[in-house]
Amino acid sequence: MMKKAKEELKAVFGFDAFRSNQAEIVQHVLEKNDTIVLMPTGGGKSICFQIPALLFEGTTLVISPLISLMKDQVEALRANGVSAAYFNSSLTDAERNQIVFKARAGEYKLLYMAPETIMPNLKTWLGELNISLVAIDEAHCVSMWGHDFRPEYTQLEQLRQFWPHVPYVALTATADKSTRHEIETKLGLKNPKTFLSSFDRPNLSLNVRGNMKKNRKEDEVLSFIAGRPNQSGIIYCLSRRETEEWSEFLSVNGINAKHYHAGLSSEDRSKIQEDFITDRVPIITATIAFGMGIDKSNVRWVIHNNLPKNIEGYYQEIGRAGRDGLPSETLLFYNMRDVKLLADFARESEHGEVLLEKLNRMLNYAESQTCRRKTLLSYFSENLPDDCRNCDVCNNPPDFIDGTIIAQMAMSGVLRTDEKIGANMLVQLLRGAKTSELMSKGYHTLKTYGAGNQFSVDEWQHFINQLINLGLIEIAYAENFNLRITDFGRQVLSGESVIKLAEFKKKQLASTASDVMTTSVNAELFEMLRVLRRQIADTENVPPYVVFSDASLHHMADALPASYAEMKDISGVGNQKLAKYGEIFLTEIAKYTNKSADFGEIPSRARANRKPSKQKGGTYKITLELYHEGLRLPEIAEKRGMAKSTVANHLVKLFEDGEAIDLNQFIDKAQINRVLDAVKSTKVADRLTPIFEALNQEVPYEDIRFSLGILQREGKLSEFAV
Ligand code: ADP
Ligand code: ZN
Repeated sequence: MMKKAKEELKAVFGFDAFRSNQAEIVQHVLEKNDTIVLMPTGGGKSICFQIPALLFEGTTLVISPLISLMKDQVEALRANGVSAAYFNSSLTDAERNQIVFKARAGEYKLLYMAPETIMPNLKTWLGELNISLVAIDEAHCVSMWGHDFRPEYTQLEQLRQFWPHVPYVALTATADKSTRHEIETKLGLKNPKTFLSSFDRPNLSLNVRGNMKKNRKEDEVLSFIAGRPNQSGIIYCLSRRETEEWSEFLSVNGINAKHYHAGLSSEDRSKIQEDFITDRVPIITATIAFGMGIDKSNVRWVIHNNLPKNIEGYYQEIGRAGRDGLPSETLLFYNMRDVKLLADFARESEHGEVLLEKLNRMLNYAESQTCRRKTLLSYFSENLPDDCRNCDVCNNPPDFIDGTIIAQMAMSGVLRTDEKIGANMLVQLLRGAKTSELMSKGYHTLKTYGAGNQFSVDEWQHFINQLINLGLIEIAYAENFNLRITDFGRQVLSGESVIKLAEFKKKQLASTASDVMTTSVNAELFEMLRVLRRQIADTENVPPYVVFSDASLHHMADALPASYAEMKDISGVGNQKLAKYGEIFLTEIAKYTNKSADFGEIPSRARANRKPSKQKGGTYKITLELYHEGLRLPEIAEKRGMAKSTVANHLVKLFEDGEAIDLNQFIDKAQINRVLDAVKSTKVADRLTPIFEALNQEVPYEDIRFSLGILQREGKLSEFAV
């Protein structure tokens, strides 16, 4: 049985091996047992019921609460040649009738349904189907205490009684223990076995920046994005206003970004989601309303503009990055003003204490001086044995100094103001600031006034945060955030205990994505394949990742398959996709490697399904038209949703084909000469990446492309391989 399962995994999905736990889960389900699957987002839950669905006779019923996700999953299955459908309120009556008709005829291996459509149809057509497996996705929706409670989920227990001999599998990415327990009891599962995967997502890098001025934050975000061209990302904000400010700020700076929040009309919201999923708009600034129903696997980074309310939410939000398993980055900004705001919200709500405690844990994470992944996973009761080496603390570990005197200084400031001082004013006091507020309170006469002026504001904040984390000082949230000395603090104050503090260091982010991308990828070819994927996706009206995931494209750019046989070895290339897209992608790769376009035996199905690759002429023509309309490079790129380097590629090729294009307008002489020098030193004139590297990644790809076009025309490249 498992041998067959592995064969299907490669033939249908194009994957060579099961991931950890998938094999055990599939086997358990195939043996017709009830199963609970707890796996983080991106862990690969779908395979756990899709492979059994293919192997069982009859139809697998998949219950899923999110309409947009259903559509994406069904599209992805169909792209792999699996017959599947979804049934929900978004369909017309005619469409539903057709699905019912086909379902009754047993045509679907998988049928996705929204929970509210189950009960009304159970007594009629649904109940008559030959159901072989029931999969309940997002099973945490059964939990009344969770954030996604769906009343319809509580009716699913009746479903369990309806098909008593059919195996059930419940899946979720929600990790907390009470939810796990509720899933087990409320869905009526029979002696289910629970498979708990690690919630670690090692491909996500974790970075945090504290107390940064707005303009510095903006600069950092700009250079972060500039270092990651063509990558998709989300910036999460606390308020609607901030999402608008960020999208405006990015747009003004020439970055293609849109904002999303619940205040927009539902048409606008679905349009923006669609633009994001199809890679037309790579960057979305959003409130946390964005992302729930999105299955986009190639989100490369997530930035938080503010501290999230709790770790559960934070983990879910950063989890939207890197679902394809490729290295992805997360960056969290926070400042004490947000914390105060969130604490105020929390205090006013019904379960104030719990919420404050959760906020506190979140803050602890942000201020952690040890491996962040350890801190994060410990929240989910998981212990990581080693430091992760993929977080800012691991990459830039603090040096520890004897902090006893520093701590005593700060705490005596707190005591001398009768514990009626907040962190900001304490810093002012220690530094001897001449503010009217200090003066009016008479604090300038205290002994501690100015006693710590050898440290900057940033340094003091950094130290005080640690004193809070170490438990010497606590914040009285309910009393204006004044600081209090704890018992442990008093021990340090009296010299009974000593402490160590992390020294203050300016942190640095990896400046470009290539610093963190461990996959050795030919960036230029990847870009070509990405554009090709986009064109196919547009023609077929599906999201690009349904055609191929980023992981598959990286694998192709790396392995350079030159035949159908080699293409089949690429992860994510199953039979259907090999037949449908094999030739188009092989041709593009052959063009790049200058190899012959003889790909060996064409699989028989390929002939039938093959589509003429006629998009090429069209896409060049569009670029040419925009050029003649007088648009500049960034504008063409933006309009077309392409990388500037791709548009540059179009323009140079059009130029070489004799179109009237003035390449010199795009680039100045000095830059051309730099590229010429790099060509001379690398002796390469037909590939961009070596030149890009030789120029310390300082000259953008489009500039290199233009330079090569001009140099070629001037006959300066004739001695190099072209
Ligand atoms: P989840 O539902 O747990 O968030 P998915 O089922 O969407 O995760 O899978 C996440 C990604 O991992 C998808 O891009 C999927 O194609 C890929 N994937 C799943 N299983 C495997 C596997 N065995 N080998 C390679 N890729 C896999
Ligand atoms: Zn770490």
